[in-house]
Amino acid sequence: MNIIEKLTEYFTHFPGIGPRQARRFVYFLLTRNKEYLNNLSRLIEELKSESSVCNTCHRFFVQNSNTSAKSCGICNDASRNTSTCMVVERDADLENIERSGTYDGRYFVLGGRLPVLEKNPERFVKSRELIKHIKKNSDIKEVILAFSLNPDGEHTHEYIHEILRPLSESGGFSITSLGRGLSTGTELEYPDGETLKNALQNRH
Ligand SMILES: [Zn+2]
Repeated sequence: MNIIEKLTEYFTHFPGIGPRQARRFVYFLLTRNKEYLNNLSRLIEELKSESSVCNTCHRFFVQNSNTSAKSCGICNDASRNTSTCMVVERDADLENIERSGTYDGRYFVLGGRLPVLEKNPERFVKSRELIKHIKKNSDIKEVILAFSLNPDGEHTHEYIHEILRPLSESGGFSITSLGRGLSTGTELEYPDGETLKNALQNRH
């Protein structure tokens, strides 16, 4: 494999990127000057060292240079409602909900969704960590399941609902889901603020 093929291969691992788009990225990089490429590779190098996973909600966050906080800004924000915990698949979903300004509770990021027929759920979603999180936070009175409206998202919903049910029955919190307003096939990364607001108001 030559260098163009090798780099193309890396880009095909990106979400939603096929071989043709990956190759376009490589040729795009070839047209940039050295400074651009140096900046890009420096940012990639620093990405991991300057960001962490929040040990409360499991989202990625950028470390403030003079602190070494273990929790993110949302988890540390005392003005947020601690009685609701919205469970989402990925960071991009959380960011979209935050942008919409329609939710003031806390989150938990599962890290992915569960493919239908998958025999080993813990490889795909942080279900064990979610249970631990809910057991530890007795303030939580409602867990909102906010997953994509596609087969894998629905499968994730069923699985998480099932594992939380015994806890919900003994722990005094309810489990709700986002309501009408979201169309089939939707990933939570995309709906606009108004749609999210309706789905949140109509949760059941
Ligand atoms: Zn957090």
